[in-house]
Amino acid sequence: MENLQDILRKIPSVDDILKMAKYCAKLNVIKKDILKIAINMAVEDIRTQYRKGRQEAATVEEILNNTQVILERNLGNSLRKVVNATGIVLHTNLGRAPLSEKAQKAISAVMEGYSNLEYSLQQGQRGSRYQHVVRQLCLLTKAEDAVVVNNNAGAVLLVLAVLAKGRQVIISRGQLVEIGGQFRIPDVLAQSGAILAEVGATNKTSLVDYERAINENTAVIMQVHTSNYRIVGFTAQPTSAELASLAHKHNLPMIANLGGGFLTDFPGNYDEPVVKEVVAGGADIVTFSSDKLLGATQAGIIVGKKEYIDQIKAHPLIRALRIDKLCLAGLAGTLQDYLCDPLETVPVLKMLNKSLPELKEQAQVLVQKLEALQSAGWMLALAPLNSLGGGGTLPGIEFPSYGVSIVTGRTANWLEGQLRNSEIPILVRIQEEKIIIDVRCLTTEDMDIIAASCLRIAQGDAKCNI
Ligand SMILES: *Cc1c(COP(=O)(O)O)cnc(C)c1O
Repeated sequence: MENLQDILRKIPSVDDILKMAKYCAKLNVIKKDILKIAINMAVEDIRTQYRKGRQEAATVEEILNNTQVILERNLGNSLRKVVNATGIVLHTNLGRAPLSEKAQKAISAVMEGYSNLEYSLQQGQRGSRYQHVVRQLCLLTKAEDAVVVNNNAGAVLLVLAVLAKGRQVIISRGQLVEIGGQFRIPDVLAQSGAILAEVGATNKTSLVDYERAINENTAVIMQVHTSNYRIVGFTAQPTSAELASLAHKHNLPMIANLGGGFLTDFPGNYDEPVVKEVVAGGADIVTFSSDKLLGATQAGIIVGKKEYIDQIKAHPLIRALRIDKLCLAGLAGTLQDYLCDPLETVPVLKMLNKSLPELKEQAQVLVQKLEALQSAGWMLALAPLNSLGGGGTLPGIEFPSYGVSIVTGRTANWLEGQLRNSEIPILVRIQEEKIIIDVRCLTTEDMDIIAASCLRIAQGDAKCNI
């Protein structure tokens, strides 16, 4: 047997491999210094294999292939499209709201070149990025004025910094929410420089509790929508209208942080506030996310009385929290949908509003698309399900839905992993050892992707003969 040193010496040199990389279309576009690092890694891999007892010689071709894999794995774009078959409409881990056609068009129009982001075309001079969506937001919420920032967490921080720095904010103990991702109302409040004055009990807070807490250092009364949990049973909280009148009686502003909130009337009984109703109830400032139930790109929307919005726009923090042009374009495009028939065009609303017969029909179509898999021994069944709203909205509310359940000769975890690692990853849930594909969030294209992936998985599985 050859000794290890001799074998290792036979590995082609990095320079020789680099020369051959010129003939490989995928590698010859990569910058040379980066390519060299990747080839070195590939060669090191081969060396390790030899040290572990590999016998057969490594070819330049093999090393180039491995180089490609290394580049793809380490430097390829890891942010990718996935298919959401979980049935959870607003999934924070999956990018929250998919965008409407109008939103997509608005984004691509702005991203292709220059735009009038901060330029007034009427006056031919500098304008403000905050102008673009103000009229639509005021029309849709009946508020006096509006401003948008990077996200709702930023909106809350900014509003409190402007209205309550160094002073007290009265909040019910039942509303000291953590929404996940390190966002806890008391912590954000502390960062803004405001002082928390908690009132009431976790399950019950009365108007009198709020009134008793008011003193000369009180800046605002704040209501926080408990977006991602429900307190049920023996509970009571004043309405936002009651809190607004109390605040006004004491010459204080009232802030409502809705988290999500619907921008339009939505059929069904969801216990989610509609922004214009909170405004009509007298709230002076209302904050909400643009990428939750509104269904647009990431942004934090602040609507309310002009005198406060003016102060907010003048605060230095707004620059640190400013919305970027693509998110603004996505919001502006989506607001156009709200002027027509949002339930038909905004994907989030459309998906939440799908009727049970519609979902059943869609699931039947998916079963048909998957039919070929029966001969591979996969068992498919139409399955009545419950989907969740998700993304810090609609807690505890289950939406009856439909889907397809799959059982193969292998474990549910195996198939879940295969689907997750597909070329276009497909995310599903597992229930009672079955793979569940909920159709609520699927487009027709998604269903074709699922069918093609399943077929590929079955064909690649030695255990089945399709
Ligand atoms: C979601 C949520 C936020 C944060 O909104 P982002 O847009 O994700 O920053 C803040 N408060 C409440 C109550 C929420 O539900």
